[in-house]
Amino acid sequence: MKAQPKASHFIDGQYVEDTSGSLIESIYPATGEVIARLHAATPAIVERAIASAKRAQKEWAALSPTARGRVLKAAAAIMRERNRELSELETLDTGKPIQETLIADPTSGADAFEFFGGIAATALNGAHIPLGGDWAYTKRVPLGVCVGIGAWNYPQQIACWKGAPALAAGNAMIFKPSEVTPLGALKIAEILIEAGAPKGLYNVIQGDRETGPLLVNHPDIAKVSLTGSVPTGRKVAAAAAGHLKHVTMELGGKSPLIVFDDADIDSAVSGAMLGNFYSTGQVCSNGTRVFVHRAIKEEFLARARARTEAIILGDPQDEATQMGPLVSFAQREKVLAYMEKGKAEGARLITGGGIPDTVPGQGAFVQPTIFADVTDDMTIAREEIFGPVMCVLDFDDEAEVIARANASEFGLAGGVFTADLSRAHRVVDQLEAGTLWINTYNLCPVEIPFGGSKQSGFGRENSAEALTHYSELKTVYVGMGKCEAPY
Ligand code: NAD
Repeated sequence: MKAQPKASHFIDGQYVEDTSGSLIESIYPATGEVIARLHAATPAIVERAIASAKRAQKEWAALSPTARGRVLKAAAAIMRERNRELSELETLDTGKPIQETLIADPTSGADAFEFFGGIAATALNGAHIPLGGDWAYTKRVPLGVCVGIGAWNYPQQIACWKGAPALAAGNAMIFKPSEVTPLGALKIAEILIEAGAPKGLYNVIQGDRETGPLLVNHPDIAKVSLTGSVPTGRKVAAAAAGHLKHVTMELGGKSPLIVFDDADIDSAVSGAMLGNFYSTGQVCSNGTRVFVHRAIKEEFLARARARTEAIILGDPQDEATQMGPLVSFAQREKVLAYMEKGKAEGARLITGGGIPDTVPGQGAFVQPTIFADVTDDMTIAREEIFGPVMCVLDFDDEAEVIARANASEFGLAGGVFTADLSRAHRVVDQLEAGTLWINTYNLCPVEIPFGGSKQSGFGRENSAEALTHYSELKTVYVGMGKCEAPY
């Protein structure tokens, strides 16, 4: 099989198998071919992973942050050296075109290890607090063994975005990839060992919605960071709350992208296409509600249509391909059903709307699709589709569009295109979302915090901010005189 790993899990520095766990078939969505067979972790595997992570965490936390950072930076360098190999694996795991994975997946994982490796030595300092004669100090201490649970759209990036800050802060991590994309995270675990991390510091175990709770409910787990859908987020947060564990929730969205009539139209079309079609539309922060000012709407639609119809769909392993299939056939069913709903509820189909007839083979492809005249009450304007479906809504004035943009349970991201600088800042200031862009869309370098508000979650990934979510403060009061009591 094309991508069969040595075994399903990576624990304590080595590949481990337990075939009594339920079967997970990894399917390459461009062809439907089974490329690997793995097994979900049994309770015994979970215990083994946790025991080894507990041992490694003590050893790791005792190192200086500089020494920890050195290992993370070495991992980043190995990832960059192996970028092609890792990108090819990511393409098989997800069906994303190699054109994208070469620049956006292992590279952004490497950025995370490099960034957190670099700031480990300076961003974990505490404070000295003078109290007259007495004084106090604070220390930023690791939480212990953290769990990362991943979604299937950015398997390697998510494994690194969670692992890098967790490890920099002195924790160990057990990462459970999505059962849809089980392969990439195993390579990250291997690379960390090669970079000098202690065995057990970053373990990867496979599994699905049955396996996740074994980790989340385990008393030896200090924190859970989930990237996934809102319904899963509710379940995981509720389970973690039962043990009062730390949680980070990176969940879904239905983000607004607002294009004013003074915007550079080509630039706005680029933003809307990036924010709807990259990774075949399977990006949580996508600007899937594109509000376009009525005065420029038809011009915007004409240009967006021409560029969308020119997108090269096809074999993800061909570097010329710009759009691959969806991650799975189940996801294709879901996206096709939304396209049909859009038509049935009266949206105007500008382009796409079904399965392409130009792509050979049996892959999970859909056409990049644009709907116009979408209204706020339509299903395609309210629910997260997670596929290449751009919904264009009309608006007339600023106050109206801000109110409509905010009328969503989600609050992950948003964007505005305008030539008017004060309007840009005024509008983003009022948008209820964790991450916002002005005159661009979906750029998430590791230097800036990323995360959502409202039902899109809480906690932040990336930037020094992420370290605060993988550590806690310990305060020490130092009495300098004699201790006095009233009795
Ligand atoms: P999902 O919610 O179905 O699964 C996410 C992960 O949770 C998987 O690993 C799954 O096995 C696990 N899981 C499921 N039930 C669980 C439970 N009860 N306890 C513990 N773990 C459980 O999501 P998905 O379909 O893999 O990914 C798509 C979703 O992820 C979309 O909603 C998307 O918006 C969201 N997403 C968010 C971000 C972000 O950063 N905000 C990034 C990528 C994807």
